[in-house]
Amino acid sequence: MCVLNAAAQTTVFTHAALIDGTGAPAMKDAAIIIVNGRIAAMGPAGKTKAPGGAQVIDLTGKTIIPGIINAHSHISENPTVKLRHFAEFGITSTIGMGGDGDEQLQIRDAQHKGEINGARVYTVQHRFEFEKDAPTPEIARMKVDELFAKHADGVKVVVDHRRHTQVPLTPEISAAIIDQAHKHHMKAFAHMHDYDDAMRLMEQGIDMLCHQVRDREVDEAFLTMMKNKRVGVTSTMVRELSSFVYADAPAWLDDPLLARVFDPKRILFAKTELKDQQSKLADLNLNRMDFDVATKNFSRMVKAGVRIGLGTDSGPEPSRFEGYFEHMEMELMVRYGMTPMQVIQAFSKTNSELLGIDKDYGTLAKGKKADLVVLDKNPLDNILNTRAINAVYIDGKKFE
Ligand SMILES: [Zn+2]
Repeated sequence: MCVLNAAAQTTVFTHAALIDGTGAPAMKDAAIIIVNGRIAAMGPAGKTKAPGGAQVIDLTGKTIIPGIINAHSHISENPTVKLRHFAEFGITSTIGMGGDGDEQLQIRDAQHKGEINGARVYTVQHRFEFEKDAPTPEIARMKVDELFAKHADGVKVVVDHRRHTQVPLTPEISAAIIDQAHKHHMKAFAHMHDYDDAMRLMEQGIDMLCHQVRDREVDEAFLTMMKNKRVGVTSTMVRELSSFVYADAPAWLDDPLLARVFDPKRILFAKTELKDQQSKLADLNLNRMDFDVATKNFSRMVKAGVRIGLGTDSGPEPSRFEGYFEHMEMELMVRYGMTPMQVIQAFSKTNSELLGIDKDYGTLAKGKKADLVVLDKNPLDNILNTRAINAVYIDGKKFE
């Protein structure tokens, strides 16, 4: 049966290598038919016929991957600019993990109406971090109700003494927040640093840890807890890197890809003031140790086969280059134990499931929204090839 009508906007990508994000091997000579922003058909190019009147794009030599989903970013300041940066680098969806206001909700609503000028927005809006955010379990529950009423895309708790400088949320409060989120069928996400806090949050039912454990190496008990409770974790190693790497004057600050997208002042700031600031940091060695422990824990989690999504914590500071950092994260994910195929699964399939958006997004499959990236080179050969971006499509529309 032909479901296409004359008014439908139909695009066909053909003769591309196709990686769908499920972990299935790449299809060598594939075609995808997109009708009104959704994938109507997908398969071998010879068998997937373009309907009459369709715009046909020959992608011989190119590779199609799912749009990159980032499960941990910050878009509270200048969201419009940041969402454009993300999209320039192939990130088609991202979630603001705290500190957002009404602007992010307005952008999200406009996107639902088809006005897409950057990565798709999700937002937890507020995050619960200090006693004033939730002085009692009752107030905590009320505030979660308010977030639900505002259609927040999840609930975020922060349980961290920040190297003993701050009083963390009590277990009683975090338990109330997580429980109330679940009553509304909202997912609960956590910032944490220490092993003990992460363990307790998992016992309380947290859905996703937004950071690696960084005070010690995780053990069998931790990995078993993750598996039994199906808890996810975002990789978020590049965030640790960004807390010391500028002191070492990294060569990648001269990457033309950075210069193509970012304000030269921001790059210069990283090379000069930030270098200076980080060189003098009292915590510089602690920051390096956090990165070291995070990478070890990431490797252990890869070996244990727990649910790992791609996350970066990019965006909140000039030092965390949104969009570019996601590709650096992928490089780290491969360096510390994943295959390029696993990285692609992490940012598509796993992240869509962790954020609860897998009905429409994530992998490339018939019926899903056409969020995809066309690459000039195959990322299965080298993960750095995710940077060879030829075009980015969001809801089937080319991002420009
Ligand atoms: Zn964060």
